[in-house]
Amino acid sequence: MKKILILGSTGSIGKNALEIIRNFKNEFLVAGLTVNDNIDLLEEQINEFNPSSVVVKNKEKARELKKRTGNKCRIIEGEEGLLQITKEEDYDILLSAIVGIAGLKPTIEAIKKNKRIALANKETLVVAGEIIIQLLNEYNSEIIPVDSEHSAIFQCLKGEEKKDINKIILTASGGPFLNKSKEEFCNVTIKEALSHPNWKMGNKITIDSATMMNKGLEVIEAFWLFGLSKDQIDVAIHPQSIIHSMVEFKDGSIKAQLSLPDMKLPILYALSYPKRFNYSDVLTDIKKIGQLIFFEPDFDKFVCLKLAYDVIEEGGTAPCILNAANEVAVEKFLTGKIKFSQIPDLIKEALDAINNHSRATLENIFEVDIKTREFLNKKYN
Ligand code: NAD
Ligand code: MG
Repeated sequence: MKKILILGSTGSIGKNALEIIRNFKNEFLVAGLTVNDNIDLLEEQINEFNPSSVVVKNKEKARELKKRTGNKCRIIEGEEGLLQITKEEDYDILLSAIVGIAGLKPTIEAIKKNKRIALANKETLVVAGEIIIQLLNEYNSEIIPVDSEHSAIFQCLKGEEKKDINKIILTASGGPFLNKSKEEFCNVTIKEALSHPNWKMGNKITIDSATMMNKGLEVIEAFWLFGLSKDQIDVAIHPQSIIHSMVEFKDGSIKAQLSLPDMKLPILYALSYPKRFNYSDVLTDIKKIGQLIFFEPDFDKFVCLKLAYDVIEEGGTAPCILNAANEVAVEKFLTGKIKFSQIPDLIKEALDAINNHSRATLENIFEVDIKTREFLNKKYN
């Protein structure tokens, strides 16, 4: 039995992971769960999965949950709880599925405890890729990607050698605005931006998909995860989201991983790896799929994707500035304070204004993160 600690159990990835665990009761059990404030759903999850501890970031909600559940499990309150549960709980796999830079510290803690990291929280690798890769080597720990594109590449690379890779090709659906012109971007509504054609996900990543910043963050994630150069990471628009990504080898051969778009598959793989379990809930009838189409992304229209490639070049804390600025810009768009078309403008402003440290350390990552947020919050409050 593998014991799983899920950070972000009430989110889109968290709920899918619990669905997998429900299906494989003889393989997995839940060691702990963490949420922001949705204690109603957490209470149901506690009753069904019996974790030994949970974290509720919102302290008031944590106390309310304590009243409701009594001594059923340990309830830790506050943001610091994330670190505490990763330090103290007994688990084999950390599923990091919270949003944003909040995932970084608990992930580092789990690496130091030599646990497997099933990583959905791509922001961790975006802001601190170099540090994370060094720690993985130092502590002999492993990250198994949950992001569907990186899971696809990870699967394609099984049995292959890095020196034989020409490039990887991350596929992107193109999001809801693939066929809109750049001029139309200033008029799109929050509701339109939250309507992803293929994937049902949390709000932040759904907006990132509409701007294609999600693909940009994934390019940076792949850069660190697979140790390739920026020029070896290609992006292809593939509106059907059936091929989740590909690897081209030096003999010209291309390997791909395919399935219907459903996050339960990469989650299951990250938990069962190196084994594969019998699972028939997401079978893909390839003859019913029809056409698979691929084309070049439009970097002029999707400026965020271009900015992500640029910050890899800049290095240091530039990806951290990009990530923080994007988190703020998305939040400002979702609360009606800026237009959709302004999201890349805010990121550019922050990249110009905030001083980049050429070498990222944990200290300057958090410093730059706070400075970037303060700068944009002051300007666009
Ligand atoms: P979501 O918004 O649906 O869920 C986030 C979860 O994290 C919730 O349970 C929330 O309560 C919890 N949470 C957020 N901040 C927290 C904090 N500071 N402390 C404790 N708990 C906190 O998000 P999601 O769509 O599931 O995405 C999670 C992560 O996975 C993101 O990094 C995203 O980029 C990545 N990801 C998601 C998908 C997807 O299909 N949803 C695919 C690939 C990667
Ligand atoms: Mg993805």
